[in-house]
Amino acid sequence: MSLLQVNDVTHAYATSNSLWRPKRRTTVLSNVSLSIGPGICLGLLGSSGAGKSTLGKVILGLEKPLKGQILFQGHDLYDADASTRKLLRRDLQVVFQDCYSSVNPRMTAEQIIGEPLRNYERLSQFELRRKVEKLLTQVGLSPEDRGKYPHQFSGGQLQRINIARAIALNPKLIVLDEAVSSLDMVNQTHILRLLEELKLTLGLSYLFITHDIKAAHSISDALAVMDRGEVIERCDDAAQLLSSQHPSVKALMESMLSDHPRNRSVDRIGSKPKSSF
Ligand code: ADP
Repeated sequence: MSLLQVNDVTHAYATSNSLWRPKRRTTVLSNVSLSIGPGICLGLLGSSGAGKSTLGKVILGLEKPLKGQILFQGHDLYDADASTRKLLRRDLQVVFQDCYSSVNPRMTAEQIIGEPLRNYERLSQFELRRKVEKLLTQVGLSPEDRGKYPHQFSGGQLQRINIARAIALNPKLIVLDEAVSSLDMVNQTHILRLLEELKLTLGLSYLFITHDIKAAHSISDALAVMDRGEVIERCDDAAQLLSSQHPSVKALMESMLSDHPRNRSVDRIGSKPKSSF
């Protein structure tokens, strides 16, 4: 059974050009269906505005779709009662692109990482500290970092704090919404390696939302491509994606590759072993 099943989801935002004009609905997701199995990373590729983040929000229970169904661990996320939803939400976490705005600048690393634990588990102060220290070590930081504030960390370190918070409750699925996109190449590589390690050791599944085909290829077990609110292609690896005959996929791949001068060779991306990202 799939861990996550997105069934025929359609969504629209109500927008208006002016205060006086009536709002009209702009469709941003059209009949989107996909699934993610346990321990699988699905890379969701697409250019800006394709609807990737909206789909992420719908999956996280943050944006109720107009139509369709999100089944997580067999439960309909939007039809479940409040207590089931709270339990499902525990297994469904997120890491966003902007590591700085994802945290409260007045909270220490310990408070940030400890927040979900305080919400869901009854731990003593001592147990909470031990758990936070373990999580800091798991994401490659030092237990002594627990007293530091966000401004005392680099972007890469702060994204590790966000990842520690996301794994604190041993979730099943993490939505990574452009989670490495704002980092420099070195930090991107390190965070992608960390994510891959955590996926293996903790048996996590990821929805890896990105506009970067190389990052997607380095971590994903399967890829899906979105364009103008629709999933237009699904495949198992970048090589398959790059040989897609779908005109929109071809155009998108070309624009993605030309964004990255280092990666303009299609063969290089398609044949690159995952571990060598
Ligand atoms: P992506 O993540 O692929 O860049 P998004 O899901 O962020 O795409 O956006 C898809 C479309 O929905 C875009 O046209 C965007 O402007 C629009 N959109 C996103 N969020 C909102 C919102 N809260 N209200 C109105 N329109 C929105």
